[in-house]
Amino acid sequence: MQSIYGLTYKDLEDYFVTKGYKKYRATQVYEWLYRKKIKSFDEITNLKKEVIEELKKDFELSTLKLIKVEKDVDVQKYLFELNDKEHIEAVLMRHDYGNSICISTQVGCNMGCRFCESGRRKKVRNLLASEMVGELFTVEEDLGERISHVVLMGIGEPFDNYDEVVSFIEIINNDMGLAIGSRHISVSTCGIIPKIKEFAHLPYQVNLAISLHAPNDKLRSELMPINKVYPLKELMPVLKDYLKKTNRRLTFEYILLDGVNDTEECAKELAQLIRGINGYVNLIPYNETEYLNWHRSKSSQINKFYDILKKEKISVTVRREFGTNISAACGQLRSKKEETL
Ligand code: SAH
Repeated sequence: MQSIYGLTYKDLEDYFVTKGYKKYRATQVYEWLYRKKIKSFDEITNLKKEVIEELKKDFELSTLKLIKVEKDVDVQKYLFELNDKEHIEAVLMRHDYGNSICISTQVGCNMGCRFCESGRRKKVRNLLASEMVGELFTVEEDLGERISHVVLMGIGEPFDNYDEVVSFIEIINNDMGLAIGSRHISVSTCGIIPKIKEFAHLPYQVNLAISLHAPNDKLRSELMPINKVYPLKELMPVLKDYLKKTNRRLTFEYILLDGVNDTEECAKELAQLIRGINGYVNLIPYNETEYLNWHRSKSSQINKFYDILKKEKISVTVRREFGTNISAACGQLRSKKEETL
């Protein structure tokens, strides 16, 4: 049966209209679902019994089954089991500005980035919007505190599951529901051009992060196979256009891999590549993983890289690290239970 958490506000309005009820029933139900957080449709007190029975017949209220939580200072990793027994993970990070959750969008990933642990397991399937809502909901419940920020940077490529991801954004952003501000929602992509273009038309001020990781097509194609399909020479003009059309924030993620993409030449080339584009660079110290033979750049090299970008007048930050003790850092999430536990 379909989960009611997969319905956008508009879907729910349409549902009621088709059934011959007033549209505003959607407001009431959204309140019960997302404000009062009911566990059963029977808890609803301001709908007629017959409407409640219809809801029960058409939808389920299930959330995800929480299997395991690992806690470290400021970070918690959650493992969930889905209805078909697949497993996914989400990570909660406590910042001084609020709680932020890193959401998985697929079971596995087909992008095959050479340095990424998550991508070692091929995509099994896309997650439904309701399952992504389930990640957020279950973590929030366990935490007992509001989650104010959402990043779609867990396992999976959000733009390889575009429709469900967009529904998810609509659901969590809706004022009647969780009301997570669009500027507090970030989507990260390896650069799927047609979807970036489509994303520009969404009426929300969500942030977009591009996983860049290399300053030229030759190196990027070696690290990220997707670059052979959507190379930088095509991606960069699309991003310029994206910024012109939207008034959103754009981030370039750049993992620093020792001796691979962290040289002074790379820093200068990167500055050249993004000059004139109104985005900022987020330098990510690589999280080394057991199965892959890539290494984190030395701190002195990270600093040198940072300084060059600064000197070139590029906005740049170095990402604060979370969760290295519990393998909850970027790219270390895995969807396979045996490997996680
Ligand atoms: N598929 C999307 C989102 C998921 S990955 C994307 O490519 O953006 C989230 C980020 O973590 C990406 O920038 C990814 O390249 C990065 N990442 C992957 N493995 C990593 C690792 N071992 N250390 C640090 N960052 C990593």
